This record gives sequence, structure tokens and C-alpha cells, in this order.
Amino acid sequence: MKKVVILGAGESGVGAALLAKSKSYEVFVSDKSKISDHYKQILLDNQIDFEEECHTPEKILSANEIVKSPGIPDTAEIVVQAHEKQIPVVSEIEFGFRNTKSKIIAITGSNGKTTTTLITYHLLKNAGLNVGLGGNVGESFAKQVIENKYDYFVLETSSFQLDGCFMFKPYISVVLNITPDHLDRYNYNFDNYADSKMRIIRSQNDSDFFIYNADSEPITNRILKLKPSVQQLPITLSSDDDLKAVSKVSYYQDGKITLRMPYNRPYQIVMQESELALKGKHNVFNSMAAALVAQTLGVSEEKIREGLATFKGVPHRLEEVAEIRGVKFVNDSKATNVDSVFYALGSFQADSPNLIWIAGGIDKGNDYTQIHDLVKEKVRYMIALGKDNTKLLNFFKNDVEHYETDDIEKAIKKAFRVAKKGDIVLLSPACASFDLFKNYEDRGNQFREIVKSLK
Ligand code: ADP
Repeated sequence: MKKVVILGAGESGVGAALLAKSKSYEVFVSDKSKISDHYKQILLDNQIDFEEECHTPEKILSANEIVKSPGIPDTAEIVVQAHEKQIPVVSEIEFGFRNTKSKIIAITGSNGKTTTTLITYHLLKNAGLNVGLGGNVGESFAKQVIENKYDYFVLETSSFQLDGCFMFKPYISVVLNITPDHLDRYNYNFDNYADSKMRIIRSQNDSDFFIYNADSEPITNRILKLKPSVQQLPITLSSDDDLKAVSKVSYYQDGKITLRMPYNRPYQIVMQESELALKGKHNVFNSMAAALVAQTLGVSEEKIREGLATFKGVPHRLEEVAEIRGVKFVNDSKATNVDSVFYALGSFQADSPNLIWIAGGIDKGNDYTQIHDLVKEKVRYMIALGKDNTKLLNFFKNDVEHYETDDIEKAIKKAFRVAKKGDIVLLSPACASFDLFKNYEDRGNQFREIVKSLK
């Protein structure tokens, strides 16, 4: 009997275990940390053998295949040993893919994955398609595959999931952008990380589609090099007329969006930025990518417009939490790298600096140069919130007034004290949250709660 070992017992690992069990494989789950009660109960209820707080080599290295959770790096000793023994190590997405007939829409990028995945899902569902949602959002994809009830799946796909993909072949792939992130997992080498993202197209062929950011050199360079046969649907927000003249390029100019779909009807949809529910240039891009997916799948123009206008937004991503005495509070806790802060800062317009910016946490190898000018232009006061704020303070201390703390409540109260009517208190940390919080959701939730208590 085929033996499948699952490393990591979170949402994706337990989902993969359930799928393996449903295929009558021998299944063993191993987690080096404690398994949460919730997932332990699921494993027990399904008679799936597991261990926690250890990896027993004999039990793991006897597998025919290993499904590794995205949180476990390739450098983990047990993974190295598995590679040495030439046991295939795959991701949950790969494992799920091999067991489904649903058509896959896979969305990756350094920033905007969750937002774009949710807009796309909303557009397709609103148009009446039988579609599921998975990957890094919501329920495990592998688990949902067991029932095989959807015609389509929209999957948020991280580079860690893609690293473990070999046969994974989306019908439509989307690469939103590639900017430095998670470099600690890629030997601090940006090319390794970018290559990992581009694995999304490696199995696609000329009956599939690839939607991508034509303004991103790491993407366009790789297309030139790889010469993929997949049908390409580029998007540009730049003002480069040469690019826009290409008949299949979708573009944005002066508040107007032109979506082009040479492979389907309607060929072209023109709409106004003001019709979009989500604000900010980055969301124009995300909305365009989602709309192109829908267009590719034959969704009508009317339904695309309706879906883009009715999308509700996503918590922790430029989420407006409250307005108190003329001061707005915005929770962008999900901005855990510099590029997402670049877009966050850029989405606020004012005549003079009016942002009270709360940033900091665990730095993943940040280079703040990209946001240097924006911070000088838009930020009136910076609050460094982290256990170790040295790098952030050293970079910006001469540019803006600042305050330092490792207590979120103090950070918010200070922000409120220095804020004037018309100012915006923006939590957009550019850093991971694990020094002071469980995760970015915890950071955002605490922000929201404390802000509401100010009222
Ligand atoms: P991901 O799932 O890739 O982490 P999210 O949709 O959760 O992305 O958004 C994370 C942060 O990135 C948000 O705070 C938002 O401000 C920013 N962001 C969203 N879309 C984009 C984009 N297309 N380009 C750059 N930044 C973006």
C-alpha cells in the first residue's frame, strides 16, 4: 500500500491527510510542534496515525511520498533526509491537484494574493459558476477535493506551495508582482524566490492562460527566457504607449480601465476606476486581474461590472476601522513587507503629510529605500512598534518625528494624541508580527479592538 507522510498538522496538512485517507493510502502525520486540539480531534476522528513534538525518522522516511506544509523550510533536517533518500516531497496543492478534475485558477504574487483570490472568487460565484476557494485562504484545498463537487477552484498560491509543485497545471495562472519577500527562505537570493513564483506556469500549455504584470521586470525577463507556450494576458498600469498598443494588453489610464481578452467574447471591456469597490492603484491592478480571469471563463460584461462594484474588501488590508474626532484609523496589518507599505502609503492623498504611521515588528531583510521618499512626503509622525526597532529608527529617524514602544496600546494612544483632525493613523508594519503577536490577524484584531475602545 502506498504510504503518504504529512509533515505539519495545520489546515493544509490535515486536509492532505484526509485526502490521502480517502484514497485508502497508509497515512502518517508528523508535527514537530504541538498539534492544536482542533486538528488533533480531526485526526483522531478519522483514525489517522500521528505524532507531535517530534519527527521520528523511521516512521517518516519509509514513505513513498511526503506532503510538506508550506511553513516547513527545505532546510529542516527531516526534509533534507527525505531528499537524500529520494522520497518525493510535494505540497498540499500538488497533492490536491492530482486528485481533482476541477479546473484550477491559481493566483500568486508577493502582494495582493488574498485580495485578488477573493475578488476572483466573488466574481465567479456572483456569475453563477460552481466554484470553490482554497489555498492559503479558508479551508484546505486537498480536503475540499475529497468531495470533488466544484467545476472550478480559485487558489491562493504561495511560493512555498509552488516549491512543492511538479505536475500542478492551472487552467488560468496569475502572477501579480514579484518583489522581495521571504528571502530568508531563499538563501537571501531574489532570483531563487522569483523562479519559485514562476513555477506556477511550468506545466501550463497552449490551452491554458497566464495573466501577469507586464510592468514587473522579474516577470517579463523570465517570460523572455522561458518562452512559455501558455496564452498570455498581460496587464499594465504604466503609461508606456508601446505596451498599450499591443492588442492583447489590458491597461489603465487616467481613471479608465481597458480589459482585453483576445481569446474570448467580449473582446474588450472598458470601465471607470470609480466603478470599483476597492480603492487604491494596487486594487485597480488586482481587480483587473480578477476580471480577466472571469472574462477568460466567459463571464458576461454585466456580471463582471456588478461583481467588481459589490466586492466587500478584506480584513487587515487597508481596512478602515473607525473615525474618531476626525481621525481615521486604518488597519493594514497584513502589510508585512516593504512593497505592500509602498502601495498602502501611495493610496492616501493629501496636500501635506497627514499619516501617523505605525510600523515595525520582525524584519524579513527589509530595504526601506523604496519607501523613503513616500514616507517623507506622507508621514507626519512614525511610531515604531516592535521588540527591536533599531533598523527602522536608524533609517527614518532624521526624516520624521517618532516614538518607540513594544506595546500596541501605547502605540495607538500615542498616535491618537499626536493626530490632528484629518489625519490618518495607519498600521502598516512592513514587518512580520511574531515578536509581539500570534500572527498578523492577532495584531490587526488588537489594533481594531483598542481603537474601538478609544471612542
Ligand atoms: P498577500 O495575500 O499576497 O499577502 P494581500 O491581498 O493580503 O496580499 O495584501 C497584503 C498587503 O499588500 C495589503 O496590505 C495591501 O496594501 C498590499 N497590496 C495588495 N495588493 C497589492 C498589489 N497588487 N501590489 C502591491 N501591494 C499590494
